[in-house]
Amino acid sequence: MEITFLKSAFREDHYPPPDRPEIAFAGRSNAGKSSLINTLVNRRKLAKTSSAPGRTRALNFFALGDRLYLVDLPGYGFARVPEEVRRSWQDMVENYLRKRPNLKAVVLALDIRRDPSSGDLDLLNRLKAHGLGTIPVLTKADKLPRGRTSRRAAEITLALGSALEGKPVVFSAKTREGKEEIWQRIYEVTG
Ligand code: GDP
Repeated sequence: MEITFLKSAFREDHYPPPDRPEIAFAGRSNAGKSSLINTLVNRRKLAKTSSAPGRTRALNFFALGDRLYLVDLPGYGFARVPEEVRRSWQDMVENYLRKRPNLKAVVLALDIRRDPSSGDLDLLNRLKAHGLGTIPVLTKADKLPRGRTSRRAAEITLALGSALEGKPVVFSAKTREGKEEIWQRIYEVTG
């Protein structure tokens, strides 16, 4: 299906009309969110990888054919971002999560090699509070030896505790492992 970039939006009145189901993508900076989106839609450079943290970042809306919107949310957890900027990103995302009526689930990218951050936990708890489904994705699985991936998946699941809903999908942008399972989960919530 054809994927097209629609627009960047900072405010609600700039979002495209909520006329079809929508899936958002979130994650700490460098978690592999852009690579995940690019792999899912078979495009090498659709979502920009590792963009500069100092830049103000928007919600980026994409259309997948005429049946689905995908939204790339700004990454969080940059070390050298002023508190004020951090807060404005948070407000923008919070506002989006709270008000977007057609949002069906948020795909959360988590680096399989790292322990979840407080930002990851915060986001999961907010999603839960808003009654939004989450599709947790453990990225960069190719960077671990085969036998280690299921152990890391269990450790991360434990660390996220009750904030987590649903089993994480083990994924690699390099081998494309997990891609079909993620699409299956997306179709389950978008109908
Ligand atoms: P973002 O900041 O969350 O959008 O993360 P990116 O997608 O830009 O990825 C951050 C870095 O990790 C980049 O250097 C990617 O090439 C690398 N990366 C992302 N996903 C994978 C993966 O599945 N396997 C490997 N080996 N590297 C990955």
